[in-house]
Amino acid sequence: MPQQLTPTNLNQLAKEFGTPLYVYDADKIKVQYRKLTSAFGLDTVFFYACKALTNINILKYIRSLGANIDCSSINEVRLALYAGFTPNRILYTSNGISFSEIEEAHDLGVIINIDSLSNLEKFGMKYGHSYPVGLRLRPNIMAGGNLKISTGHDKSKFGIPVDQTGQILEVVDKYHILVNDLHIHTGSEITDVSVFLKGIAVLFEIVPLFKHLKFIDLGGGFKVPYKEGDTETDIPLLAAKVKEAFANSPSAAGRNLQIWFEPGKFLVSECGYFITEVNVIKETSSTTFVSVNSGFNHLIRPMFYDSYHRIENISNPDGAEKVYSVVGNICETDTFAWNRKLHQVREGDHLVFYNAGAYGFEMSSNFNSRYKPAEVLVKDYQALLIRKRDVFEDLLRNQIEVL
Ligand SMILES: *Cc1c(COP(=O)(O)O)cnc(C)c1O
Repeated sequence: MPQQLTPTNLNQLAKEFGTPLYVYDADKIKVQYRKLTSAFGLDTVFFYACKALTNINILKYIRSLGANIDCSSINEVRLALYAGFTPNRILYTSNGISFSEIEEAHDLGVIINIDSLSNLEKFGMKYGHSYPVGLRLRPNIMAGGNLKISTGHDKSKFGIPVDQTGQILEVVDKYHILVNDLHIHTGSEITDVSVFLKGIAVLFEIVPLFKHLKFIDLGGGFKVPYKEGDTETDIPLLAAKVKEAFANSPSAAGRNLQIWFEPGKFLVSECGYFITEVNVIKETSSTTFVSVNSGFNHLIRPMFYDSYHRIENISNPDGAEKVYSVVGNICETDTFAWNRKLHQVREGDHLVFYNAGAYGFEMSSNFNSRYKPAEVLVKDYQALLIRKRDVFEDLLRNQIEVL
């Protein structure tokens, strides 16, 4: 298996492991991680936002690269521990969770970002100043690719609004809580570096109010390219601007604040390929439909938030180009792409969807009682099966037959 996964290699993997199939290229994850560390240097810490892709082998691989991990649920925290991350490398950025999960996170010894006044109060009451904690704030900034993936604006559910800093300080003072980290995560697919700078400016206004700060966590949301000529977040520019903002801020001066980020998509989007097989070609007066053996049960992003995935016919790379609409086989509208130019498609051909690593398998389901796909990791010239395709028993697992 060569370093770079080519259409020919992907086609071979589809034949070997069957379809639908997710394939991940370990090297690409490493390349992405190195882009971040080489731009920011060793004093910036990157927590992989693992909700993008939690296969245990991916978690172990990312740990081996030296990254830390950001979790969105207590089960992700447990998976991270299982993958060998030590608690001090695990961040639990909570959102709307019950206090009992914060208690569990505390008992597991991981880093916690609290996102509501209610949980902050409960945390203070129970732990006082015995366990430093971070605050997830809502900076009231519009950012990200579209409203569905924007999380920092003034109508977003995420974080404690910065305009409630007065109330935060009351709770912090009342229980002598040690706030060591301020966090924001404003959205996904942010290309405009100035969004991060705006976030920093909002945080720096309140930095002087928190005496025990050690970290400023700027969240994730770096954009990757989806098609030829597409933009991506300019990481070296971002690094230069962020460092400059920290160096020039009077409120950060002398505080020695460490910068944290939580990239999800940036690390794993491009490493992933989703391979399907064409079941049916249907000619209609307006459209030629290509129905593949998948649907939004396996890759929901196009239907969920209009995401674009480049598609290629890897079985007929030299075929004449024609325009198709690529759809799935489930009983709901599950269009992957309208009016897409592909090399001539025939029934039985393999189509690959690019940028399928992040929020691909992770958001898959058994809708229509179809099996979840298998997953393969390509690493060190080897293709390793890292998840079996579902079998019929999986559909009945956990069901209790009472009739
Ligand atoms: C989802 C999420 C991220 C990662 O976002 P990407 O767009 O995948 O980089 C980072 N931090 C938090 C708190 C998140 O919820």
